[in-house]
Amino acid sequence: MNQKISKRLKQVAQFVPQDARLVDVGSDHAYLPLFLVESGVIRYAIAGEVVSGPYQSARQNIQDSIYRDCIEVRLADGLAAFEEEDQMTVITIAGMGGRLIADILEAGKDKLRQMERLVLQPNNRESDVRAWLERNDFQLVAETILEEHGKFYEILVAEPGRKELTAIERQFGPYLVQEMSQDFQQKWKREAVKLQRALYQIPANHTMERTRMGEKIRQIKEVLDVSQ
Ligand code: SAM
Repeated sequence: MNQKISKRLKQVAQFVPQDARLVDVGSDHAYLPLFLVESGVIRYAIAGEVVSGPYQSARQNIQDSIYRDCIEVRLADGLAAFEEEDQMTVITIAGMGGRLIADILEAGKDKLRQMERLVLQPNNRESDVRAWLERNDFQLVAETILEEHGKFYEILVAEPGRKELTAIERQFGPYLVQEMSQDFQQKWKREAVKLQRALYQIPANHTMERTRMGEKIRQIKEVLDVSQ
């Protein structure tokens, strides 16, 4: 199992506290809960999956392991995978778009009252996730960014609480901006190049679109320059 888990999922696992009762939403193969149980970090998890194929594959992986009593696989949409009486304390949602993660949280937000921590790894639109957290009384307590197979992944860790973010923090991440790691700089340099190329393609008379794109590029440059 240890060899199967990606660097990205290992990093997500780093943010799951000892003895958490974990719900892994969109668990697919259930590698994350399996890794956490196997590592002795947690003793119980629910692996939630909405699609039958991945659900079956998660079930099979759990059945084939010695951790059958520690991980329950449930076929469910988002946070419908657990009930209050399950007394879950931490949710992980990894490997999906930021908008989908925000939608899943929104659809099940009544169930979040008991949660001590959310560990979220959007593949894109991280700012949508930060904005949702901010609107729903979750504050970021940690963030990290990593590169794997040429792609950059951000991990956002939130706990109950209120903290307003600036527009820059919402877009780039309050902790990530502070840390200004190599991966962070690479990600945004790459994004600026991509946007610049896109800008060249926009006809000169599409003024609003060009202005919006130009503003995004300017913002990235400003953030990267400040720390260099
Ligand atoms: N979490 C794993 C990871 O990070 O490697 C798997 C990521 S996989 C790309 C996304 C998984 O989320 C898919 O298996 C998909 O079926 C599942 N999924 C998408 N929307 C979901 C929802 N609303 N509820 C539960 N699972 C969902």
